[in-house]
Amino acid sequence: MKRIAIDMDEVIADAAEKHLKLYNQHFKETIMIDDIKGKKLRDLRPHLESEIKSFFAEPTFFRDLNVIEGSQEVIKKLSQHYEIFITTAAMEFPSSFTAKYEWLKEHFPFLSDMNFVFCGDKSIIHADYLIDDNVRHFKRFCGQGILFTASHNMHETGYVRVNNWNEVQDYFLK
Ligand SMILES: [Mg+2]
Repeated sequence: MKRIAIDMDEVIADAAEKHLKLYNQHFKETIMIDDIKGKKLRDLRPHLESEIKSFFAEPTFFRDLNVIEGSQEVIKKLSQHYEIFITTAAMEFPSSFTAKYEWLKEHFPFLSDMNFVFCGDKSIIHADYLIDDNVRHFKRFCGQGILFTASHNMHETGYVRVNNWNEVQDYFLK
């Protein structure tokens, strides 16, 4: 079986939506996800970079994120034909481990714990494919990178891109 590594945030878990909501509440702003197309929130408010980051460090931040539409159904189907690993650069926020693990158990109960990889540098991942919203993870990845569309990566070119989980299904199961 070929092996697919799948990122969490902005691929199966909607972290950006919750993050922006918390930011707006905290700073009494009304920034919409469309206002930060092609960028990250920290690019829009560079002077608030550490505050912006700090929401992610909150131990419960990742526990109640919405599931990205279609990801559960498609990953279930893919898992009959491919070996699936969930690979998250969780070392960026070590306080997120428990919440991320519990979230995966709740929403992806059909995957084994043994297929969860909480890592730092993703170049250690040995898989045939990596579905991720961050192009930096493809630079030293040994397999085929597949860019999952997120508002911050709209303008990236030169990558195989999928816009949603229907397109992931078409890519792997057609
Ligand atoms: Mg991500």
